[in-house]
Amino acid sequence: MRLTTIGTGAAAPDPARVNAGHLVEAGDVRLLLDCGSGVVHRMASVGADWSGITHVALTHFDADHVSDLATLFVAWRWGQLPPRSAPITVLGPPGTAALLDRLAAALWNKLLAPGYAVHVHEMAFGDRVALGDDVTLESRKVPHTDESVAYSVAHAGRRLVYTGDTAADATLGRWAAGCDLLLAECSLPSAMAVPSHLTPELVGELAADAQPGLLVLTHFYPPVYRVDVPGIVARRFAGPVVLAHDGFQVDVGTVPPPADAPPDA
Ligand SMILES: [Zn+2]
Repeated sequence: MRLTTIGTGAAAPDPARVNAGHLVEAGDVRLLLDCGSGVVHRMASVGADWSGITHVALTHFDADHVSDLATLFVAWRWGQLPPRSAPITVLGPPGTAALLDRLAAALWNKLLAPGYAVHVHEMAFGDRVALGDDVTLESRKVPHTDESVAYSVAHAGRRLVYTGDTAADATLGRWAAGCDLLLAECSLPSAMAVPSHLTPELVGELAADAQPGLLVLTHFYPPVYRVDVPGIVARRFAGPVVLAHDGFQVDVGTVPPPADAPPDA
């Protein structure tokens, strides 16, 4: 299972970081987690297999996570020869189908019939879905917007957890516990803390609960760079930490297991 962080920024213009989007490749599955502004073109600049995407999973409906979705659908229809014929499955929390209807009405009336099959799969909070080729996707409600979820992706004994956008949640770390890779939002420094996002301090506490094999931080607003993010996290979580950039790539299969994980049989 390989993770490529396509977009590691948020809504603030940043010359190096587009909005949220992350590609997980496992077996035959190409799963795009979120599709915010800039993600489609960034996939080209980092060499990601955008035309091979099989599933898109949305964590919530804020613009910085969904606003490139129609662009991606158009790219599959008009941006390649031959045009896409393979079906695409869009997964997300309750309300995903209505969101796609609204995007179709506003942006492209062929969004749901673009010449390839579009399957929409709304997941109830806590649902686990088999995506094929031994890849499963599980959702968990997180406190951000009403529909916001985190995701856990599992394949071949490995597990990646993506927080999406979230406020501090006392039990999220327990849900993520023992994952090989925790991809966590780290939006704002504590001096700018808001009730709906994580600060480096809160990410450190989350990782201390989850004890992932590798903590990968994303969703940065530029002010968070004014603080010592690695130092703040390290005072709470002793494991390895990466501040992701657009195009950062890691093979989850090579991440050493979490410190307290049982050894492989
Ligand atoms: Zn966001």
